[in-house]
Amino acid sequence: MSQPTDQPTDQRRRDFLAGAGAAAATVVAPGVFLNSVASAAPRDTAVTDDVRYGMLIDTAKCADGCSDCVTACEKENGLDQLLKPEGASDEIWDMQRPRWIREVKLRNNLTGRVTSLPMMCQHCEHPPCVDVCPTGASFRRADGIVMVDRHTCIGCRYCMMACPYNARSFIHENVRFKITAAPRGKGCVESCNLCVQRRDNGGTTTACQDACQQGAIVFGDLKDPNSAVSQAMARYPTVQIRADLKLNTGVRYTDV
Ligand code: SF4
Ligand code: SF4
Repeated sequence: MSQPTDQPTDQRRRDFLAGAGAAAATVVAPGVFLNSVASAAPRDTAVTDDVRYGMLIDTAKCADGCSDCVTACEKENGLDQLLKPEGASDEIWDMQRPRWIREVKLRNNLTGRVTSLPMMCQHCEHPPCVDVCPTGASFRRADGIVMVDRHTCIGCRYCMMACPYNARSFIHENVRFKITAAPRGKGCVESCNLCVQRRDNGGTTTACQDACQQGAIVFGDLKDPNSAVSQAMARYPTVQIRADLKLNTGVRYTDV
């Protein structure tokens, strides 16, 4: 078969890839492109406890009714591709559909004040979900991320009952559409994993943080005194939700 040019095949491939990269640079915003380049380097070292990932959420900046963080999380993790099962009522679907982050209203029993805030897995240092898991599928990584190994999860849902924050969801239906970075499957439990696919590919932010136009979410290394999250935590008084449980959560809030 004739070739369009007399260049060797490998050279043509290299030229094509270089052209594709240049085209990508012209169709996305500069900041986004740089971010995607920075996040293109997969981890080549083991996860260690030199870092502990966490976040600070300034609820004073959370606009009432805003769900930008929820939408971004669903897009990042493929939850936006869920289809309501045939015949399911809107009410049942609303109760049972997987959610990794949701807006909740909390009432302070002492002051009566009601605060609206985003609630996701709190990445507890002493996670009850891990304690009760019979197979070890629910686990805490050395860097503080609590997540579920889908290969060993048997769907018993003990962890869902043990979690004081109602942070976990069960996948009831076959997953027809999913994204490569966040594989999902029927019969497994899932929850916020601090965008672990970004952590393991050089990314420095989370999708919910990126989406928040008010800058209410600061993510980073709680062990690094110079990180943005540590600096913010040093500047403002912060609370753990249900601090009485002594779980030492990795997610903290201000103005609750
Ligand atoms: Fe586990 Fe719930 Fe704590 Fe997350 S918030 S680590 S799911 S107990
Ligand atoms: Fe969702 Fe990632 Fe935010 Fe967790 S950190 S709530 S997975 S967007």
